[in-house]
Amino acid sequence: MRKEDAVNQVTPQIHHRYQELKQLLQRASYAYYGLDNPIMEDAVYDQLYRELQALEVQYPQLVTADSPTQRVGERPASQFTSVHHRIPLYSLDNAFTLAEMMAWQERAIRQFPNAQEYVCELKIDGSALALTYEQGLLTRGATRGDGMVGEDITPNVRTIRSIPLRLNLANPPELVEVRGEAFLPLEVFARINQERDRSGEPLFANPRNAAAGTLRQLDARVVARRQLDFFGYTLHFPEAQNVEPPVTQWESLSLMQALGFRVNPHKRLCRSLIAVQEYYDYWSTERFNLPYMTDGMVVKVNSFAQQTQLGFTQKFPRWAIAWKYPAEESVTQVENISVNVGRTGAITPVAHLAPVHLAGTTVSRATLHNRDRLAQLNIHIGDTVVVRKAGEIIPEILRVLPELRPDDALSFQMPTHCPSCGQPVVQMPTEAVTRCVNASCPAILKGALLHWVSRDALDIEGLGEKLVQQLIEHNLVHAISDLYDLSATQLQTLERLGEKSSQKIVAAIATSCHQPWSRVLYGLGIRHVGSVNAQILSKQFSSVDCLAEAEIPAISAVHGIGAEIAQSIYEWFRIPANQTLIARLKAAQVQLTGPQSQTKETKGEQPLAGKTFVITGTLPNLKRDEAGALIQAAGGKVTSAVSQNTNYLITGDSPGSKLGKAQALGIPCLTEAQLLELLNRES
Ligand code: NAD
Repeated sequence: MRKEDAVNQVTPQIHHRYQELKQLLQRASYAYYGLDNPIMEDAVYDQLYRELQALEVQYPQLVTADSPTQRVGERPASQFTSVHHRIPLYSLDNAFTLAEMMAWQERAIRQFPNAQEYVCELKIDGSALALTYEQGLLTRGATRGDGMVGEDITPNVRTIRSIPLRLNLANPPELVEVRGEAFLPLEVFARINQERDRSGEPLFANPRNAAAGTLRQLDARVVARRQLDFFGYTLHFPEAQNVEPPVTQWESLSLMQALGFRVNPHKRLCRSLIAVQEYYDYWSTERFNLPYMTDGMVVKVNSFAQQTQLGFTQKFPRWAIAWKYPAEESVTQVENISVNVGRTGAITPVAHLAPVHLAGTTVSRATLHNRDRLAQLNIHIGDTVVVRKAGEIIPEILRVLPELRPDDALSFQMPTHCPSCGQPVVQMPTEAVTRCVNASCPAILKGALLHWVSRDALDIEGLGEKLVQQLIEHNLVHAISDLYDLSATQLQTLERLGEKSSQKIVAAIATSCHQPWSRVLYGLGIRHVGSVNAQILSKQFSSVDCLAEAEIPAISAVHGIGAEIAQSIYEWFRIPANQTLIARLKAAQVQLTGPQSQTKETKGEQPLAGKTFVITGTLPNLKRDEAGALIQAAGGKVTSAVSQNTNYLITGDSPGSKLGKAQALGIPCLTEAQLLELLNRES
């Protein structure tokens, strides 16, 4: 057997996967095009489609005529008359990255190296229409259907006000065809879904399906009420007596406008891929301010002569491509599931994924949270799953596609014993979290040490994960306080640590004794005591002893500190191992009192009492409610609107209209850092 044959041999697993994908995509495609009722997210469809395409490239012998890759759309199950399109309505090839765009450009311009001109148009997320004008009169409006055969929906098309019933042209040619996108503005889409919700009808998944569903309503009066809109983007205009037929896409758009169509105003003529990229980047954020939905842009070679030379593949024009915006959802496979033991002993299942590109990053892990979430998802190793990552949010698994579960998929159970120390784990009846409660569990100790040395806590440089692991493995550290007994000579016995770096680390540990009491309190890692709560508490309790002695009501009396936090703090100080830890930290001279901190009783009044604050925009470190809690803990008031009574406006990134109003009223604006400074100065 030749080497190539061996590479391309279809194994039973590949065949099985191919069949599964094909069937699932066929069902999805019918639900989407035929019923206007999708059974999966577009991004998921796209990803599975690409997987199918990749299999077909690698194993061309698999391809059959009924493969979704061989079809433009779906012939709708409809009661409308069929229309054979004179010129087929092709789909568009798509790209998701600049590299894919460069590859397209390379293919497209190879023949015309000196004449690159592209028209960039927004890709409106609606439904394609083909409009026929005979002697200038609209005689037929049809859907795209499968590209060859669509449906005659003329009465419905006539209700769309932005579609002229007569062309604005004296002596029009016998036959003109205009193609474009019918769409529902977002506001109308929201209203329709509200109405459907009220009358108990199923909601439309997105404006595109709502537009397609509306166009195929049998009652044109319903269509008229729904207020569809239309942008023209393709014109088939033959030789005419009084008008020069357009020779470029750019001219075509202008002529369409002159004929009476709405053409999207955000088009641009670009002379390089760099200009195209600028357009793409600009609209990547600006599109969210548009009153309709777009999912990318369409780039078209401008010259019709060049378009003709480039021609079509079976499905797409070679002279156009849709450059889509990155999806926040995608599908991938679960390669393994493992568990992590955190510093509180919480055992968290984590899915290891085949790497997938999402919202600009590569995702290869996603938390599965706890046993309840595991049960809900019923996830198996080998499953195909839908993953979501929006912005800075941690990736999560939205759902499993059980249709694609391989026969050898393995189910996963939470462990009964801690993977780190081997002790039995505990499942509290009141919480979904599974915990290791062995205080000397190495994984818990490692988590606690890493938290102690972290930037917002004691900020000890040089003590990274590897070194902490070694300290535990070599029995040099059994508790946080042991760090303060380490000598440079001991550190030098560890892998890759020389004399100088050992001395540096010992010095950094010693310096950490001067970190303020609020950071130390945060570093102790008491459940629910994050850095903001630690700041609040350190201001109200002047030392560790005050806090350790406080009863629950005294702790929860502090503004911003709830009953659950108070309970957790109270319990923490009642555990003997923690009492020993505090005693040893005192002996090591770690700051367990705060010079700046005074209790309410001793201070008599709160520093920001009588001051009113408003917060706007995204702050660099604190969440808005955290900043609010800090202000309130210092006696200040936080309100939502700027008025004459506002003393300060705290501003972050992308501030709203409040900033302008505050400036107009002459109210001082502070950054997060200035707020923290104010809090420290006043207290
Ligand atoms: P497409 O939507 O990716 O692109 C082609 C369409 O873009 C054209 O038909 C036209 O309607 C539209 N368009 C908008 N503005 C345009 C402009 N300025 N110029 C030219 N065309 C413009 O391709 P498609 O073949 O219609 O559909 C494929 C898409 O449908 C997939 O990306 C997939 O997400 C979705 N789909 C989803 C499911 C599902 O189950 N969710 C099933 C099938 C298809």
